[in-house]
Amino acid sequence: MAKIPEMTREEEAEFWKTHSSVDYLDDMEPVEVEFHPNIKNSRDLSRRCPVCDDVLLFRYANRDAAGGRVTLHRLMEFYCRQGHGVWLAPEAAKELRAIEAVLDLRAVEPVLVEELVAA
Ligand SMILES: [Zn+2]
Repeated sequence: MAKIPEMTREEEAEFWKTHSSVDYLDDMEPVEVEFHPNIKNSRDLSRRCPVCDDVLLFRYANRDAAGGRVTLHRLMEFYCRQGHGVWLAPEAAKELRAIEAVLDLRAVEPVLVEELVAA
C-alpha cells in the first residue's frame, strides 16, 4: 500500500483526479461521522421536490437573466422529473443575483455631478 504524499490542497485536488483512494486505505484513519437525527440515510441529504417529495435531479443549463440582457451558461439547476419545477442551485442563484445587481447599477440614470456635490 502506498503512502499519501505531503501536498497542498491544490496539489491534492489534482492528485485525487488520477489516483484511487482504495490504494491508500492503510494510510488513512477512520473517522466517525454523526448525522443530524432527522437524517436517516444518505437519501435524506438529497434535495426534494416540494410538491411530490421525489428526489430532484440536476443538470446544467443556459438561462437568460436580467430581462434577456445576458445569458448565463452552464448554470447548475435541480429539476423534478415529474415536471413540478426547476430550481437553481444556491451557488448559481447567488451568481445570477450578483450579475443582475451589477446590470441594475448600469441601468440607473446618470447622476449630475453638480447635484452630487450640492447634496
Ligand atoms: Zn415533483
